[in-house]
Formats: sequence, structure tokens, C-alpha cells
Amino acid sequence: MPHTPAQTAPAPDQAATLTGDLAHPAPQAPCGAGPAITWLRSDLRAHDHPALEQADGPAVFIRPTHASPARRALWEELLADMRHALGDRLVVEPAPTHPTREARWAATADTLLRHARAAGAEEVLVQADYTPKGLARDKTVAEILATGGVRLRALGSGYAVPPGTLRTGAGGHYKVFTPFYRAWLDCGADAPTSPAPATGASRAWDHWEEFRRHRLAGYAEHRDLPAVDGTSRISAYLATGALHPRTLLASLAATDEDTAPAEDRVAFARELAFREFYADFVYHRPETLQEDVNPRFAGFTWNTPGEDLEVWKEGRTGYPIVDAGMRQLAATGWMHNRVRMLVASFLTKDLHLPWQVGAGHFRELLVDYDPAINQHSWQWCAGTGTDASPYFRIFNPLTQGKKFDPDATYITRWVPELAGVPAADIHSLRNLPAAYPRPMVDHAEERRVALARYEAVKGN
Ligand SMILES: Cc1cc2nc3c(=O)[nH]c(=O)nc-3n(C[C@H](O)[C@H](O)[C@H](O)COP(=O)(O)OP(=O)(O)OC[C@H]3O[C@@H](n4cnc5c(N)ncnc54)[C@H](O)[C@@H]3O)c2cc1C
Repeated sequence: MPHTPAQTAPAPDQAATLTGDLAHPAPQAPCGAGPAITWLRSDLRAHDHPALEQADGPAVFIRPTHASPARRALWEELLADMRHALGDRLVVEPAPTHPTREARWAATADTLLRHARAAGAEEVLVQADYTPKGLARDKTVAEILATGGVRLRALGSGYAVPPGTLRTGAGGHYKVFTPFYRAWLDCGADAPTSPAPATGASRAWDHWEEFRRHRLAGYAEHRDLPAVDGTSRISAYLATGALHPRTLLASLAATDEDTAPAEDRVAFARELAFREFYADFVYHRPETLQEDVNPRFAGFTWNTPGEDLEVWKEGRTGYPIVDAGMRQLAATGWMHNRVRMLVASFLTKDLHLPWQVGAGHFRELLVDYDPAINQHSWQWCAGTGTDASPYFRIFNPLTQGKKFDPDATYITRWVPELAGVPAADIHSLRNLPAAYPRPMVDHAEERRVALARYEAVKGN
């Protein structure tokens, strides 16, 4: 896992197109400028937050216009922690209601200008946002603030190794995970800027500590079993910035072998690196949030979504593990990683629907929605993405269910119609109650269709 301290980040490609330091924030350096306010976005934590520590004025959070109900509920909880930590310094503003994105950004800039002027501040400090939308927004807001004599400046990022930092020997960006991971390990992360919060001060940190102490041991073995509470469930805290990966890596490094064997700590850090790989890739190839990474798929035949999409969304496909996952997502805004892979494979390879449709549905509901991870994980499952995962490797939802949920514990938790049915019957679709839907498609037949369509673009 990364060590400390980090090497200096070279300037990313897009730095030249932006004003100020927005695409190339100083990691944690003191600025020494005059009074400043902070603009909080996806960085809702009061610890290990360079921008918040540097500014002495108000910390302004402007409620986002669009968000899933699960995400809105989480924000309220995190804001309560922030209010406790920051007191009157935290200012929460309503979401701009203007119809266009540009008008909302202008309204955001006006709000920030108002607070900066009231505080006598010359700077608005932020944690850099590397999403294509975030970069565009910050450029616009920076320009408007500049007309009012206020500078928007980024300090730090939401990553251990900021997107754009790592380069291949040939000077390009990494296109596959494994070499990126090696470079990421070599690079290392900065040390946290402040000590971890006291117990009770941050629910995100308390949640992490509970996992680290009691469930990190065994992570490598349990992380693929949806019936087991074997993963950290910190994704929503990373997406909202309530936890910073740098803080987590330092915490992992300080964890002894008795608490969690190295194998589990390394496996966990590797997943954090996956998150950073996708962010880095999107930083260099922002169009891949919508377009296939693999250009071969430009001529691929996808079906047009219809009732089949609704059946998938509602978890009525007749394939138990797929339905369990979709119902978990609808009920909680979260789904286990292994099951995300299975439902995405089913949508793209059994229903032949474009991955963008599934990614859009996830975006609506996920509490941990992260554009880079979500879109690229969908591309991975569809076979159009960064990874060399071959398109012809098509998940069988029945054998996968049997392998990863052998007792059908996860399935019956989310599909109550199947409660009491022997696991062997569930995994072979035998003797299922009439209340449970018949399979909407024949997997073996759809597999053949998917492979035939793949053959048609293989030589492209
Ligand atoms: C189709 C699909 C869509 C996904 N969409 C999202 C999304 O919008 N937001 C999101 O955070 N994750 C997404 N993931 C990745 C993964 O499913 C979740 O990160 C994970 O389930 C979150 O649970 P956890 O925090 O308990 O994970 P843990 O196993 O405890 O992992 C710890 C952290 O590592 C990162 N991580 C874990 N697995 C992956 C992965 N496969 N790729 C990249 N980073 C990973 C996450 O930040 C996660 O919180 C998606 C996966 C698939 C297959």
C-alpha cells in the first residue's frame, strides 16, 4: 500500500485550459494569502481537509440540485456532524433552482461572492473536483469570482494520488489497472493533515473504525459473498468525501497483523486504487463517461429499451440473484459489488441493452454514485471498457448465484417469495412458487445472441 510522503505531482494535461490551480491543486501547502472562505462540495468532513484547515472564514455548502433520496438523507447526517465540528462556521445554502446548468453555476458564484465579501475574503478555497462536470463548473465559477476580485483556489483532492499524476514510461496515462496499481503503490500518499476524529465526532470515521477493527480481517475472503457483511460499506462516505482515502491508507498502515492480516489490508488498499484508476482514466478521457472505451463497439447492435428495462429495474427478471440485487438497490440505494456485476451483465448480455441505460439507473438510485467508477464498472461488465475482460465471458446468473450465495441467504433476504424454498431449487429454478416470476429470457439462448453480435464487430 502507498507509503508516505508522496512524490510531487507533475502538471496534468488539462491544467493549461483552466484558470488558477483548479486542475492542479497544491497537495497541502499553506497559502499564506489573506482571509479565505471554503466552498464544500463532495468533501463533507471536518478532519484531514487542507482547504478547510487553511481558510478561517465560513465553510459554505450549497445543496446540490439533483440527488437520489438516499444521497440526500446521507448529506443531512453528514451536515449534522459538520455542524457539530464547525459550529456557526458552517453555512448551508439552498440548491439553485435555475433551469440551466450555466445559470445554476452563476447563482453559485453569486452566493460565494456574497459570503466572501461579508467575510472580507479574497479567496474561496476548495478541494479539487476532477469530474468533467466539476472541472467545467469550477472554471465558470472561477471566472465569475475573478470579476468580483475573488480567487477560486484548489487545495488537495479527494484521492490519495490525484488524477493526472501518474504517467507511463512513454509519458501517457495508464489504460489498464495492473500497471497503474504498481505505479500508484510506488507513488505513495501524503500523510493526513490532522489527527483522526474522536469517537462520536464523525459517523463516517466511527463506521470505518468498526470495520477496521472487527471486519477487515477476512476481507479478501469475504468480499465476494453478498450474504456476509464482509465489505466496508464506506463507498458513500468516499463519494461524499466524509472519508479521505489518504486517511484510510494511513489507518491501514497503522493496523497491526493481529487486527487484520496483511493479505486483507493489501486487498482493501487495492480496491481504493481501483477507484483512483477510474478517476485517472476519466480525467484523461472524459468522453468515456458516455462513450465506449473500446472503439470496436461503435458498430455493436444493442436492443432498444422497453418493458424489459422496467422488469429489470423492478427485480422481476425471474433470475433470483439479479432480482435480489435490483431490489436491494431500490430499497437501500446500495448493492453488493459482486451482484452489481451480475445485474450489469444481465442487462447488457442477456437483455442486450446499452450499458449507458443501466448506468443511468444506478446514477438515479445509488447512495455511493461516483461517475468514474460507475460508468467504467458498467463498461467493464459490458465488455466495452478499460479492462481486458473478454466480451465472451458472460456471467451465468444461476451458477454465479450458486457459487457466491450457496445457501441463498442473500437471495431470500431480498426476494421474500422464495423464503423457505431449498437453495438447490432456487439455483436451478425448480419448483419455485407461482408468486415468483418465470425467467423473462432463456440465458443459454441470449448468450448465443450476445456472442453472435460480438462476432460481428470482432474484426473492427
Ligand atoms: C456496475 C457497477 C457499478 C458501480 N458503481 C459504483 C459507484 O457508482 N460508486 C462506487 O463507489 N462504486 C461503484 N461500484 C464499485 C463497487 O461495487 C462499490 O464500490 C462497492 O460495492 C462499495 O461497497 P464497499 O464500500 O463495501 O466496498 P469495499 O469492498 O469495502 O471497498 C472499499 C472501497 O474501494 C472502492 N471499490 C471497491 N470495489 C471497487 C470497484 N470494483 N471499482 C472501483 N472502486 C472500488 C470503493 O470506493 C469502496 O468503497 C460499481 C460496481 C459495478 C460492478
